[in-house]
Amino acid sequence: MEMSGAGGVPKLDDPAEEPWPAATACMTRREKERWRRVLIIVCLVLLVFFLLRLESPSMVWQSARAKLTAMHGGGFMNASHAGATKADELLGGLLAPGFSRRSCLSRYQSHQYYKHFPYAPSSYLLHKLRSYEARHKKCAPGTPLYAKSVEQLRSGRSAEAMECNYLVWLPFDGLGNRMLSMVSGFLYALLTDRVLLVALPQDSSDLFCEPFPDTTWLLPPDFPVANLFGLGPQPDQSYTSLLDKKKMVNDPANATALSVPPYVYLSLGYQLVDKLFFCGEDQLVLAKVNWLLLYSDLYFVPSLYSIAEFQNELRRLFPAKESVAHLLARYLLHPTNSVWGLVTRYYHSYLDQAKQRIGIQIRMFNFASIPADDMYNQILACSRQEHILPETDGDEAAAATGNLSATNNGGDEAEDGYTAILIASLYADYYERMRSAYYEHAARGGARVGVFQPTHEERQATEKLAHNQKALAEIYLLSFSEVLLTSGMSTFGYVSSSLAGLRPTILLPAHGHRVPETPCLQAVSMEPCNLTPAREECRGKAVDKEDLARHIKVCEDFQGGVKFFD
Ligand code: GDP
Repeated sequence: MEMSGAGGVPKLDDPAEEPWPAATACMTRREKERWRRVLIIVCLVLLVFFLLRLESPSMVWQSARAKLTAMHGGGFMNASHAGATKADELLGGLLAPGFSRRSCLSRYQSHQYYKHFPYAPSSYLLHKLRSYEARHKKCAPGTPLYAKSVEQLRSGRSAEAMECNYLVWLPFDGLGNRMLSMVSGFLYALLTDRVLLVALPQDSSDLFCEPFPDTTWLLPPDFPVANLFGLGPQPDQSYTSLLDKKKMVNDPANATALSVPPYVYLSLGYQLVDKLFFCGEDQLVLAKVNWLLLYSDLYFVPSLYSIAEFQNELRRLFPAKESVAHLLARYLLHPTNSVWGLVTRYYHSYLDQAKQRIGIQIRMFNFASIPADDMYNQILACSRQEHILPETDGDEAAAATGNLSATNNGGDEAEDGYTAILIASLYADYYERMRSAYYEHAARGGARVGVFQPTHEERQATEKLAHNQKALAEIYLLSFSEVLLTSGMSTFGYVSSSLAGLRPTILLPAHGHRVPETPCLQAVSMEPCNLTPAREECRGKAVDKEDLARHIKVCEDFQGGVKFFD
């Protein structure tokens, strides 16, 4: 360093060395040093003070939310709900605020029970949901716009384009089927700017909360179409029969609101009568119909993706394809307080304290029935293959194949807590066998295992509300598992996995009543299978086939079905 003058005092005109020339002229070097330290301390104190003020409660919340979104945006993640925030409660903005908590407890409490929330909703989905909610409120039963549309329907005449257009969901088949067709119908309403109303019979009158704020989705009983619940798959007003009878033409160039009937019945159940629904040119015509009645038991979203007019929109709404049913089911479906009571009472009595919950859903279809012994053995074989259940010391078969030490749960040492196995089935058989297995044999490594089954209803009784409430409670209890083993081709299992945000292990169906050689497969996507997909060759705008082939493939559990993959 260059020195100048006596004692090596820095040059006064050197700003890098001396920031306060006038004051320093008469200070000693020690005094200057002391002032410099004081100034540094004051600056530090001011900085800390400033930062603390910045982190006001709302700022803390906003930055927490930003972090949450950033984590979710990064892809698949497991959510830990310890210390849940408001952002968790409303699932990162997926759920609209402003509901009365007490009217629907599950809406605000379910996030505490789910173990996974792998995908953040896209900002475009949030935008669409908020504008859907505004539209629903404007057009819902009780509003002048609803009255106008019903009046037009009652008159039987076609009409000028209406401000509000509707999709009326009708019940068909079991609860899982219904939930999936509701979700599909809701997405169709989002895509086509319609308002979703549901026609709920007595058997479904106390299952789901109102999903949209300050309004209702219930179709009023005086809706002027007779015998709504008894029309079945082939009514006169089905889209295809209207085309056959030349009461409609599926030519967008010749279709005006005046040339279409006031309502069209869409027969989109597993029989898929109205296949043409999944063609773009037919969609252009159907867009002019004021009322669409949806009769379906399918998860038909993958078929919507094959319509060129919807493909881009669906890409924007759901950057991750396997998140569609997961996000929409979490948005739309909230059990009513009576069902939520069943769920939470059971959960806190048997599942809450477990260190891990394994949900097993066993469905025996008539077309794929096998003896209970065979089904039980298939479950055990699957468990060994995928390391799902804690193995027992008496499990010689596993020992012979060398699989014993690789179990998911049965470590070498007894750990704190127990593993809860939750069984959902119409029958008690599998529960009895499994419970006995862990009673008669110790789990490996001294692990503690509890086997539970809330009900065994023996037969499907969809016409009974209490039966459906228990079924719904079990779907939710399954969805609070860390691990899921479900039955192939069962919509009951599909909804549980979608709600859970989990890729399940799927038991393969015993087609032709033959036990499958491969007992089960690990699902690659948590999306439900579209069990009767659209296969129509359409005339309209070409769809991006490469993208379609990349994202829609044959289901793991059913060659005849397709589902979304990423
Ligand atoms: P899927 O037939 O397996 O596709 O499922 P669905 O839910 O559409 O129809 C089956 C119906 O049978 C359910 O809705 C219930 O009513 C009844 N069911 C089937 N499995 C169970 C079960 O494990 N628990 C209860 N409580 N009901 C079940």
